[in-house]
Amino acid sequence: MIEKDIAQFQQIVTQLLTAEKEEPVVPPIKAEEVFNQLDLKLETEPLDDDQFYQSLKEIIFNTPRTATNQFFNQLFGGRRSKAVLGDLVAVMLNNSMYTYKVAGPIVGVEKAIIKEICSMIGYGDHSDGTFASGGSMSNLMAMVMARDAAYESMTDTGVERKMTLYTSEESHYSIPKNASLIGIGKNQVRYIQADDFGIMKVEALEKQIEEDIQNGFLPFMVNATAGTTVLGAFDKVGPISDICKKHALWLHVDGAYCGAVVFSKKYKYLLKGLEEADSFSVNAHKMLGTPLTCSILVAKDEKYLHDSFSYDADYLYQTDNDDFNLGKISLQCGRRNDALKFWTLWKSIGTNGLEKLIDHQFFLADIARNYIQSNEDYTLYSFDNSISVCFNYKGISPQKLCTLLYKEAKLMVGFGSFQGVDFVRLITINSDNSEKEILNFFTILEDFVAEHQEELLDSALIES
Ligand SMILES: *Cc1c(COP(=O)(O)O)cnc(C)c1O
Repeated sequence: MIEKDIAQFQQIVTQLLTAEKEEPVVPPIKAEEVFNQLDLKLETEPLDDDQFYQSLKEIIFNTPRTATNQFFNQLFGGRRSKAVLGDLVAVMLNNSMYTYKVAGPIVGVEKAIIKEICSMIGYGDHSDGTFASGGSMSNLMAMVMARDAAYESMTDTGVERKMTLYTSEESHYSIPKNASLIGIGKNQVRYIQADDFGIMKVEALEKQIEEDIQNGFLPFMVNATAGTTVLGAFDKVGPISDICKKHALWLHVDGAYCGAVVFSKKYKYLLKGLEEADSFSVNAHKMLGTPLTCSILVAKDEKYLHDSFSYDADYLYQTDNDDFNLGKISLQCGRRNDALKFWTLWKSIGTNGLEKLIDHQFFLADIARNYIQSNEDYTLYSFDNSISVCFNYKGISPQKLCTLLYKEAKLMVGFGSFQGVDFVRLITINSDNSEKEILNFFTILEDFVAEHQEELLDSALIES
């Protein structure tokens, strides 16, 4: 009975919320031991309800807690309750987004989001977009459109020329992965050098394009990153778009991480020129605080979405105009309702509320950077206008420090590297946090180091 399960859900989740406050980082189960410690094996015979709920609870209470104020490990965090509500409702409704017949008003929900984002970034009436199952897939869709736009017969004949694409050495790994998937090949990805701030060097880009043309390649797209994965740097969209226009290249802006700055009057200048890009993607499950996954891809000219993704299927598309049958412009056939959770958040706090979320994350990053800069035990490696705060403490290996903090269930934080230097990477993306939680992060870290001096200096211990 669904009512009983919903009541159980309510009860377990209430316990989880308490547990998250009391124990923000759950002691990890070693990967090699997960099957021994938990009842995961699937059996022939059914469990009675009490045993079943017990097994489920064991999993729930041993799962890493990504919404707490001590989780800084990834490019998402926190929990916006109206967004969670929207996602829970989406599970109950269980629509599929391909047709209006099956999704009804949810199609309108998705279209309302797309329309607002297109208008916000200065795209005109011919723009449109869709939701993909993540930023990597949004990038894939953009790359498919860019490839198909390169020459007329592409979708029939496939790739027949040596095509090249351009992205910064600091860009996301989905770019080379997708290059392989779309038949371009990883070797045809040109990694353009980044400057000391992690921003793609525009002159180097143009030089590489010209060199490739001379060598008989067909350059077809540039990927600019809005918020590089490690440093959170913004490539210069305006100047890059000038080069793309000159050489007739598709420009995609990968804003999975920080594309949401378009919601902020204060920070949207970081994406100046975005209206010139052919496509743009943003993950609402990162800065916009929506549950995973919620990735939006928009194209300046909807024609390209249709050219690359529209296929007929008589068994499926039986009613309504194709404008409302979203399967005509999506990568998938059956597709989850990822729009409602973002819509419920947006509807409940307004565009101004979303802007506050973004601005607050930058504010928290400033708090962290100021703290680091005013304390000589720390070295700072990141720059203004980034919510990735990279640093080292007392010269301790960031790998050792982050791993021990995790094993001892103190903090969830990761490490990264830039220009050959490794550092701790603190992400201030959880807008539920305040100044207090950010300063508390440093207190926990410093106390932990004081207690673990020896271990942190002895690498052998970490390996075991
Ligand atoms: C996170 C990220 C992606 C990938 O998004 P997923 O939703 O994890 O697939 C792509 N590009 C950048 C810059 C990212 O930060």
